[in-house]
Amino acid sequence: MNIVIIGNGPAGNTLASKLDSEGVKVDLYSNEEVNFYSRIRLPSCLGDLDKLNSLCVKNEQSYIHHEAVVAIHRQSKTVLLADGTSKHYDKLVIATGSNPLIFFNQSGLEGIYTLRSFHDAVKITNDLVSPVCVLGGGLLGLECALEINKLNHSVTVVQGDSYVLNKQINETAANIVSQKCMERDNFNIICSTLAKSVEGDKRVEKLILSNGDILACNTLLIAAGVRPSTSLAKGCGLDISKAIKINQYCQTSDKDIYAIGDCAEYNNECPGLLPVALSTANVVANHIIGNKIEYVPPKQLPTRFQADDLLVASFGEMRGKCYSKQVEERYEAWYIEDKKVVGAILIGSKSHLPLAKASLNKEVEDVNVLLDF
Ligand SMILES: Cc1cc2nc3c(=O)[nH]c(=O)nc-3n(C[C@H](O)[C@H](O)[C@H](O)COP(=O)(O)OP(=O)(O)OC[C@H]3O[C@@H](n4cnc5c(N)ncnc54)[C@H](O)[C@@H]3O)c2cc1C
Repeated sequence: MNIVIIGNGPAGNTLASKLDSEGVKVDLYSNEEVNFYSRIRLPSCLGDLDKLNSLCVKNEQSYIHHEAVVAIHRQSKTVLLADGTSKHYDKLVIATGSNPLIFFNQSGLEGIYTLRSFHDAVKITNDLVSPVCVLGGGLLGLECALEINKLNHSVTVVQGDSYVLNKQINETAANIVSQKCMERDNFNIICSTLAKSVEGDKRVEKLILSNGDILACNTLLIAAGVRPSTSLAKGCGLDISKAIKINQYCQTSDKDIYAIGDCAEYNNECPGLLPVALSTANVVANHIIGNKIEYVPPKQLPTRFQADDLLVASFGEMRGKCYSKQVEERYEAWYIEDKKVVGAILIGSKSHLPLAKASLNKEVEDVNVLLDF
């Protein structure tokens, strides 16, 4: 049986290695020139080419081919490669991930970037010019902004929502985090405003905001979300909504084609997170070797974020009744519904991480026990 996998991210790479270790013949096609690397560690390596290079695995498996897939032909069960050759598959797995949203590319100005791939990180590293503006105050935007500021660049984060990390934490927590970040030299955060346009001669020089402000900007990093990469699936007529629709075995509308990771949508959800990539890869590896394990979306995906020495952690969901307490930079919010803890936000509260993990989805007698600090 020929298994063909498209994409060498964590979903495709994990699946290929599991199948290979089971003795299944696999061919994985990657459109990236470099060997497999940890995408989530790219921000912490910005500005340091040696550190970036050390992210890539040294020896790559022989089943990985650095050639892009440009089309899927379902009738002949083949994929067409960028070099013009075709490869037959019995089962095909689409693991093409997602692409960052990009704005202002029609301006033709230099100095505008997104960070998704190793190649992006190298380009940014080789071309960082202050002042830097980061569009998006989510996890990726804020992390990149802090890393770039550590490289002695002046950075302004522009966040459309009214506070940073709004998907993970509440407004009070976000204010503590923002304040902590802005204690850094040459670090600013502007919320509740959108980027309207860019101006410059050859390179970006100004970022114009919807509130009328004009920011000096010689490098613009856009971290405003991603869109699942579905063009190959669309081209061969698979069912697509936000992403490629899959069933509980990660099969698409064609039973011989699976989709996993960021490019797949299960029950109207495509969260774009690493645990989903690993978990869907595991389901498909098992399905191909004959074990029918049903995909169960990872439930609580805890978030950890480090703003200098301030640890930010969030668990579960922000719903139900909120009980909170703040002592200087330490803040906790516990969300209780039907007597059960459904979510928790911990800022500067490392010692309560085990408590939050242990309490999630459990009944709580006395909320004061949780807020005991
Ligand atoms: C900087 C950054 C930090 C992140 N941090 C976190 C985090 O802390 N926690 C978390 O849970 N998630 C995080 N994420 C998200 C996480 O990286 C993704 O959810 C995960 O990488 C998805 O894996 P994937 O294999 O589905 O897709 P991807 O990792 O996107 O890999 C898809 C691969 O397919 C390739 N490809 C696409 N089209 C083709 C084609 N036609 N032919 C051949 N190859 C193709 C792409 O180039 C890419 O290499 C982060 C993402 C980024 C960019």
